[in-house]
Amino acid sequence: MSRIRLLPEAVASQVAAGEVVERPASVVKELIENSIDAGARKIDILIRRGGISLVRVVDDGCGMDRDDALLSLERHATSKIRSAADLQAVATLGFRGEALPSIASVSRFRLTTREAGAVAGTEIVVNGGKIDIVRDGGEAPGTQVEVRSLFYNLPARRKFLRSENTESRNIEHQIHLQAIGHSRIGFSLLRDDRMLFQLPSAATLGDRIRDLYGIELLQRLVEVNGTPSRNIRVAGFIGQAGLSRQTRSQQLVFVNGRATESGLLTAALREGYHTALMKGQYPVTFLFLKIDPGSVDVNVHPAKREVRFRDPIAVREAVVRSIQQTLERGRVGWQEKFRSPLTRPAAVPEKRTSDLKLRPEIPVPEESHRELPHLAPAVAGIATVAGVVESGRLPTPRVDSTDDALAAQRSQQLTVQQQFQIIGVLNKLYVLMENADGLVLVDQHAAHERILFEELRRRMEEHGVPTQKLLLPHTFDVPPRDGDWIERNLSILQKMGIGIESFGPGTFKIDSLPGFLSVSDPAQFMRKVIDDLKSAGSSTSPMRLGEEMIAKTVCRHAVKANDPLRYPEIEKLIRDLLECDLPYCCPHGRPTMIQISLTELEKKFGRKI
Ligand code: ADP
Ligand code: MG
Repeated sequence: MSRIRLLPEAVASQVAAGEVVERPASVVKELIENSIDAGARKIDILIRRGGISLVRVVDDGCGMDRDDALLSLERHATSKIRSAADLQAVATLGFRGEALPSIASVSRFRLTTREAGAVAGTEIVVNGGKIDIVRDGGEAPGTQVEVRSLFYNLPARRKFLRSENTESRNIEHQIHLQAIGHSRIGFSLLRDDRMLFQLPSAATLGDRIRDLYGIELLQRLVEVNGTPSRNIRVAGFIGQAGLSRQTRSQQLVFVNGRATESGLLTAALREGYHTALMKGQYPVTFLFLKIDPGSVDVNVHPAKREVRFRDPIAVREAVVRSIQQTLERGRVGWQEKFRSPLTRPAAVPEKRTSDLKLRPEIPVPEESHRELPHLAPAVAGIATVAGVVESGRLPTPRVDSTDDALAAQRSQQLTVQQQFQIIGVLNKLYVLMENADGLVLVDQHAAHERILFEELRRRMEEHGVPTQKLLLPHTFDVPPRDGDWIERNLSILQKMGIGIESFGPGTFKIDSLPGFLSVSDPAQFMRKVIDDLKSAGSSTSPMRLGEEMIAKTVCRHAVKANDPLRYPEIEKLIRDLLECDLPYCCPHGRPTMIQISLTELEKKFGRKI
């Protein structure tokens, strides 16, 4: 007797549903995608109890006639592709013809739909995959799908659902994705009778981001534009360096309009941000890639979240480059933030402001230009900042003594003060400055790290980091894998100032190290460098390895948090910071500066609500 049977259609649908409909958020995703494909201008979503009890999606798209409405519930029935050839370049969000029958097989399902010119629409009710009612119905032109009691007939799957709150959050995230991806479409979400958002059709992506996340976020984004390569266009907005999140919830990437998850893209974002991102943090991106549809395969997974690229290296390069360029471009606006309020000297009586101002006659001890021995000559330009002198700390502001000579001196200072106005230093760590918006705080340690990092990187790229010969060369053994790694990266290690060469199988000799380091055990230092750099990832380019190593060592040499600096040093520190490519953050991605606006202060003081 034959043991193999064809599964009844309803069971086959339930099996397929397992892949397409994982949770309420997948229902929402599929329904919204259908609405978008149907040309909707407005999509209204309602959910109850995390979408488990009800999901309803109403659109004003093209609608369906009765035949199509019935057909849409059959498996593998779709209006979006006709042949295998069409699969090569899918231009719609859907194409598999699986969503509606899958959803209908695991819920109590109701579809009402009407075409624009039609006299009557159609209503279809399906329970657990079985069509129960077909009749005239349908209100306004468009389509409305109601999904009740999801997985009521699949208790095993229902058990895997999370709390209603978690499911709701997943749904919200899903709608955010679609709303960002399609800013011209209006969206609303009603959750358990509470209106969570109502997004009008937005003219631009910027408007949509503002409507969804607020103006504060938009102000911290930089627009990506440019054509880093002929076949791949990258556009959208990304967070300034220093802006990051603990989760990936705002790391959004769209490929040809489709929200996409891809390890390749995540890695490219990371590399693009590189030193601008804190460990364990994720960037904020609203990135749109446009690629010839023939170079992307979206038919990887039933949920269509993953994509494959025909030329992954080109995609990666394009993303990395546009992020780097955008972050560096964002510097200009950022520098502006340091500008002191120009109107201030005239608007405020001299006597009172000077109480708070740093005075030009701050004593500058001779040693102020002393260089830290281990920093020279690699970073001579900034060594003065590190040359801390115990006696020369910033004096506490003094009361003005209305001295004519002093006034003259101050007017000379004006040019500097117009650029940035230093008020003082808090807790020997935070430089307080004033700008038109209010208060600016600079973390002097983070700032100095950034300056040192870029200086050393420049040297590495130009002629290699200056090295210092060791008194005695050291030899050390490494396991075979590490040996291979060193062999492969010998030239970059040398550029990084490490004089290393092979000394027999599995053995290496070092005779010099970067001049800016003071290392007591070179062999141990090398092992650590190799471990660190290897963990930085195999896909990283050699220059990136150099950067990684500098970033890891720089920290130890940057101004310590509690090093008191004198005024000229601070001024130089700020100037040097403003000259950096990525001044916003230290090489580990921590911000160098934060702003507290006058508005925030006014709120805190209860002057404004
Ligand atoms: P796919 O989207 O992959 O084609 P679905 O099962 O999601 O498969 O939908 C089947 C078909 O039903 C679609 O191809 C489309 O023609 C039609 N359809 C589904 N939803 C809508 C809608 N909201 N408005 C108009 N037509 C729709
Ligand atoms: Mg679909």
